[in-house]
Amino acid sequence: MIQTVTRFVLVATLLAVLSPGVLAQDRDAAKMIILGGKIVTVDEDQPTAEALAVSGDRILALGTNDEIQKLADEETHVIHLNGELVIPGFIECHGHFTGVGQSMMMLDLRKARTWDDIVKQVADAAKEARPGEWIFGRGWHQEKWESAPSPNVEGYPVHTALSAVSPDNPVSLTHASGHMSFANAAAMKISNVTRATRNPPGGEIVHDETGEPIGVFRETAQSLIRSRRTGEDGGRMTAAERRAYTLKAIELATDECLRKGVTSFQDAGSPFSTIKIFQDLAEQRALRLRLWVMVRDGNQRMAAQLAKYRTIGAGDNTLTVRAIKRSIDGALGPHGAWLLQPYEDLPMSAGLNTSTIESIQETARLALANGYQLCVHAIGDRANREILNIYEEAFSTVDNGPELRWRVEHAQHLSLQDIPRFAQMGVIASMQGIHCTSDAIYVMQRLGNRRAHEGAYVWRKLLDSGAVVTNGSDAPVEDVDPIASYYSTVSRRLESGVTFFPEQAMTRMEALQSYTRDAAFSAFEEDIKGTLTPGKLADIVVLSKDILTCPENEIRDAKVLYTIVGGNVRYEAAK
Ligand SMILES: [Zn+2]
Repeated sequence: MIQTVTRFVLVATLLAVLSPGVLAQDRDAAKMIILGGKIVTVDEDQPTAEALAVSGDRILALGTNDEIQKLADEETHVIHLNGELVIPGFIECHGHFTGVGQSMMMLDLRKARTWDDIVKQVADAAKEARPGEWIFGRGWHQEKWESAPSPNVEGYPVHTALSAVSPDNPVSLTHASGHMSFANAAAMKISNVTRATRNPPGGEIVHDETGEPIGVFRETAQSLIRSRRTGEDGGRMTAAERRAYTLKAIELATDECLRKGVTSFQDAGSPFSTIKIFQDLAEQRALRLRLWVMVRDGNQRMAAQLAKYRTIGAGDNTLTVRAIKRSIDGALGPHGAWLLQPYEDLPMSAGLNTSTIESIQETARLALANGYQLCVHAIGDRANREILNIYEEAFSTVDNGPELRWRVEHAQHLSLQDIPRFAQMGVIASMQGIHCTSDAIYVMQRLGNRRAHEGAYVWRKLLDSGAVVTNGSDAPVEDVDPIASYYSTVSRRLESGVTFFPEQAMTRMEALQSYTRDAAFSAFEEDIKGTLTPGKLADIVVLSKDILTCPENEIRDAKVLYTIVGGNVRYEAAK
């Protein structure tokens, strides 16, 4: 009590003598200082420092311990380090934000080693579920199982075992890539899918040799399963319940990101209905990390709504909406990537074109007219070429095309002749380091050695050509963990120890840039993020290990000690 009174008197006295200019600030002293760190700023003007001060939500200064100590008073939050690595907060450049939270509310199938493991997980869930309740799962990948399921069609399981353990509960299990799903008999029945159901454009129902659907739905065919058309609950949620579900997903995703050192998240596609919820949260200052959201909605709705939804730095720089997400093909795992030549292991197919060229050209016009960046998912070499062509044509109608920073999401497999076009056109390659090592086991099967060597995950060739390459995890396709993707980016080493064309690896510093400085650039946010520079937002991560210099095999042991967003500690590891 006495202390409070004394402080009040002190403040009152100060108020009396200070000039109005000084009064405009909260206080003179730093809000937070970090001492004794190995600070790597990713800013060439001042690459390293030992200490750092924060004022408000910004970085105030960098310097020696003595210099920074002088900026503190008794109210300053002081973090004492023992030489631990301090870097700009990680920017996830391509993930699915609510998807991260939703996947935490579903069966996690990523660890399954056989199809039988998955049948068992569903059987357990069915015992708990009410009759008729949907069971959702996510993350299965047939290439990661120890043995092929029996029976199988093209390596995919047939629904009978799954249908037997869950006769009364419809089941929908999304593939790890998000580009395919598996349904049991109950789900197909509710959705009126029979052997007579035709493939929708850009999708495929996989059948057995007698013509029965086996339960696998590729790409746009996923929407035939009723739950996916009408929402996660089969259309039974009220609007209020749906909002509560989304808010819960946002909470879970936020906690997950902060634990892993992600201070900014570039969401690869949300509809206007979800963006409205983000806007409400930003207005209430309730977002605990920063979102940069790509709109993913129909051309007609976008034509009507893009101008109204365009948002830059709302809620103290926690929400920006000025990009659009589209997809032109599927993923390589499910043979959905659109290739120039057929698959090595599926010679009758060159993949799937999931949206027409015309509809993406229309989106490009909308992007130009409304001042949005365009970000298109392209995995196969054909898909990448078509997108670069669409961008080229769109840029020919304006005089600042290369300044628009349009992006290709994934850019996984490129034809040699298309690699230099990224730099020439100023198109950003928004890639995911972790996909390279996760996918490597089947890249060779799908593409064959020559194509894999020339153009698969060629971030070294792209960087050398002058392109900007960013990093991320595509969470929940992969864990949102930036350290895991960083490790893959610098090592290209698989769990087995084998490396996948290691000459395409980034240096440690390039990989850090791809997750910080270049990530900010890819979102027009380099003035506020991406480096630890005085005046920029105090988004900071402290790691237990120096991932820039430690032995390569120790990188993944690095733990996040602190995640700081705008000068507030949002995550602190248990001591
Ligand atoms: Zn994605």
